[in-house]
Amino acid sequence: MKSIWYENEDSIPQFSSLKGETKTDVLIIGGGMAGLLTAFFLHKAGVKYLLLEKDRIFRGVSGNTTAKITFQHGLIYQKLLKDEGQEKAQLYLEANRSAAETFADLCRSIDCDYKTADNFVYTTSDKRKLEREINALNKIGYNADLCENLPLPIKTAGAVRFKEQAEFNPMKFASAVAKGLNICENTRVIAYEPNKVITEKGKITAKRIIVCTHFPFINNHGAFFLKLYQHRSYVLALKDAAEYDGMYVDEDKNGYSFRNYNGLLLLGGGGHKTGKRGGSYRELEEFAKKHYKNSRQVASWAAQDCMSLDNICYIGRYSKKTPELYTASGFNKWGMTSSMVAARILSDEMQGIRNEFSAVFSPDRSILKPQLFVNGVSSMEGMLSLSTKRCPHLGCALKWNKAEHSWDCPCHGSRFSKEGKLLDNPANCDIKNLDN
Ligand SMILES: Cc1cc2nc3c(=O)[nH]c(=O)nc-3n(C[C@H](O)[C@H](O)[C@H](O)COP(=O)(O)OP(=O)(O)OC[C@H]3O[C@@H](n4cnc5c(N)ncnc54)[C@H](O)[C@@H]3O)c2cc1C
Repeated sequence: MKSIWYENEDSIPQFSSLKGETKTDVLIIGGGMAGLLTAFFLHKAGVKYLLLEKDRIFRGVSGNTTAKITFQHGLIYQKLLKDEGQEKAQLYLEANRSAAETFADLCRSIDCDYKTADNFVYTTSDKRKLEREINALNKIGYNADLCENLPLPIKTAGAVRFKEQAEFNPMKFASAVAKGLNICENTRVIAYEPNKVITEKGKITAKRIIVCTHFPFINNHGAFFLKLYQHRSYVLALKDAAEYDGMYVDEDKNGYSFRNYNGLLLLGGGGHKTGKRGGSYRELEEFAKKHYKNSRQVASWAAQDCMSLDNICYIGRYSKKTPELYTASGFNKWGMTSSMVAARILSDEMQGIRNEFSAVFSPDRSILKPQLFVNGVSSMEGMLSLSTKRCPHLGCALKWNKAEHSWDCPCHGSRFSKEGKLLDNPANCDIKNLDN
């Protein structure tokens, strides 16, 4: 099932595939929001680069987002203040605020239905969480307000509001950004060697390589298989449901989100860890039936995002041992501003420019967080489970996903069609002989 943004897929420029061996200064792997924006800034700076995409650009998670541009990433600031300290929390806010401003600047000359809207992060549990968030924000110099009566059809304890955030059509935006970039589509990277990648169509030598493949797929460096897990969510596009003034997101990652686009309500939710059970489409359909009785479903889709250990994404050197290899991942479902932050940091890095925000997002930071233990246990369980259906990534037992008719990996989130075709990485190949 395709997102509503695919109505504009014909406007995305097409690129030919790689032909033979070549050399470049910077090689970007992956043409989603992170890879495209990085290519865009390198192009503007006159750096020699090439972007490789295994399918067509913008058909990964970025084509299935709900496209809210905000630096209000859940109730993150109280956690950052407590776990990382004031300076880092302030830098996180500034990096993402500046990213949102860059979107605003670019969208002035791009026809992509960009519109400012307030963003509300609500809770259905304890109002004190909201008060703590507002206090944390005050400490780092940002004024947000507490709103008590929300227009939503569910009971909430209120919300923290960030004024003048934004929403847009990401496919229209990508169509404009991708024009004139140096891209090869239908060119999958199969393997990495220092300063070199192997594709199905030939080898490429590069001074620097940036992995923007959503989940970084190179396993023998960086330990991303421990640093990340994937969380899946579902979206219904409803006609005749409700028109809300603003965007609304539950602070609980399994809760609901609401934004409107072109007369439709985009209702998000039903979330769960990939490979585990959760509400999925059924939960959203029941919600719509109960709360928007006269509504009609015109589209539905699902996608997943990489979740980091400490709520901060990973942007920078892939590992200490690979000085020429970089990545951007772990966007925690906030990949619009995070991709922009990544593109600014990585394009600066490629030009030898110091970026004031880079230390906050460095993948090198400590991994000693409680989520590391959870990820480790989950991987062990998956590897030790008995099943003939196994993931080619690290060998975990696959689980059948009834709602979407796919084989999903509960360890790292790779997904495969009923016939074994790769749908979501970090696995990097289909499964042959799935029925054996
Ligand atoms: C349901 C949902 C709603 C969301 N809503 C929001 C929101 O409102 N606001 C927000 O800020 N964020 C949101 N997010 C998060 C955001 O959409 C993602 O974080 C972001 O789109 C990820 O971008 P990406 O470039 O990392 O990945 P992708 O868009 O998946 O791009 C990765 C690309 O790499 C390519 N690739 C992979 N492997 C290879 C290979 N070996 N060789 C060549 N190419 C390869 C893929 O084909 C793909 O095109 C949402 C996420 C979900 C799941």
